[in-house]
Amino acid sequence: MTNVVPFTVIIANKSCTKCKEEFPATSKYFWKGGSKKSKLGLSSWCIKCDRMRGRVYKYKNATRLAKSNNIYINTETGYQKDIINGIFSRGRKDPIKTKRKIWVPIITKDEIYHLLNLHYQHMKKIFPESDGRFCSYCRQPWTYIRRLGTRNQGKQVRKQSIETNFSVDRLDTTLTYQKGNIVFCCQGCNNRKNQVRIEDMVNIMNVWMERNRT
Ligand SMILES: [Zn+2]
Ligand SMILES: [Zn+2]
Repeated sequence: MTNVVPFTVIIANKSCTKCKEEFPATSKYFWKGGSKKSKLGLSSWCIKCDRMRGRVYKYKNATRLAKSNNIYINTETGYQKDIINGIFSRGRKDPIKTKRKIWVPIITKDEIYHLLNLHYQHMKKIFPESDGRFCSYCRQPWTYIRRLGTRNQGKQVRKQSIETNFSVDRLDTTLTYQKGNIVFCCQGCNNRKNQVRIEDMVNIMNVWMERNRT
């Protein structure tokens, strides 16, 4: 008869630095490898805690992305609505009371939004993988920046436009907002073009071409 001494493997316990629970120091409870500093070549966090960290990270990232997307969409919707509504509210003003010429739109809001969508499609063809929010004239992306904290600084300051912002132009300034005459562009291009008529532009171009003819 031989005496068989029962052979037991003694496995040290290791506590997770995250949940502070103790587990056998094996790859069943801790990731193998990891940083050289960790005892026994095992991860300092238990597998359960580490998987949780990954899940929390993914969740936080997803909500952060959704949030920033949402903020952008809300900003865009709000800003465009203000600009487009402005076209219609100005069109309802009394021409006798206002010194400026009143342009009464002969297009509906829905039709303007439809044209805006077509503009995005058109610009996406020119700039693939973009969102198509580009000025028709300078082809730079437009913005929706609001001037904050100008409440008590007078009309002049409040009215100073942000040149990169979204704007709706009448291509032919002698015509109102109507199909074929609406151009989505940046405020800067709109401002610069504001007082120039198409025929002026043709004349200017003629002189310019004449001078630059080689
Ligand atoms: Zn743990
Ligand atoms: Zn522009």
